[in-house]
Amino acid sequence: MSTLLLSDLHLPPHPSPLREAFAEFLKGPARSAEAIYILGDLFEVWIGDDEGQRVYAAECGALRRLSKTVPVFFMHGNRDFLLGGAFAASTGVRLLADPVVVNLHGTRTLLSHGDAYCTDDLGYQRWRRFSRQNFVQRGYFGLPLVLRRAIVSRVRSTSLVQKRNKAENIMDVNAQAVAAAFVEQKVRRMIHGHTHRPADHRLTINGAACERIVLADWRPDHCEYLQVSAEGVSRLEIEPPA
Ligand code: MN
Repeated sequence: MSTLLLSDLHLPPHPSPLREAFAEFLKGPARSAEAIYILGDLFEVWIGDDEGQRVYAAECGALRRLSKTVPVFFMHGNRDFLLGGAFAASTGVRLLADPVVVNLHGTRTLLSHGDAYCTDDLGYQRWRRFSRQNFVQRGYFGLPLVLRRAIVSRVRSTSLVQKRNKAENIMDVNAQAVAAAFVEQKVRRMIHGHTHRPADHRLTINGAACERIVLADWRPDHCEYLQVSAEGVSRLEIEPPA
């Protein structure tokens, strides 16, 4: 039995080969897994559980069917951080805090979306702290859907413009923030997404050999997930639908 992890699918609200590939994943490899961990940015836009469950009805239905037999865990990304309890209740998917430490086949492993470690991006970290506050979200969810749509689309276009003007390195994780997380959580393995820089980093922290596994973002021609079992860790791909 193996555990499957994935992140940064960025499924768009319109028909897409990425959505077809995710459907294949849920019908195929996911069914025989011990557990599934989705580490954020499954959905490119999530205005709220009302609109989200309507726009992504196919995915919600497939997750509901899967979660009857396989535990499915979800952690917020920066795109779908407004996904909430109504989604969880109706799909059976369990929401995880970020970060969380789980025992994956004998190895204590820190799981995170990864954006919290991009501490060089001060503007983003300010936005992250603001947008995750309860009172901000309460205010937002009190607004009519049409206003929430307008706010989300404004935030997305602003963030696109800012991203274009930011240096590449400030959008990656910060080495000190990563090292601090290893020490604080007493782990030697971390798995995260967000940066779209898939790699297996070996590092030494306080004399201990550690590894930081970065999940791949999904592209129409490359839909990758991570398989962790007692035998080790491997990267597998969903065949793109013809
Ligand atoms: Mn992200």
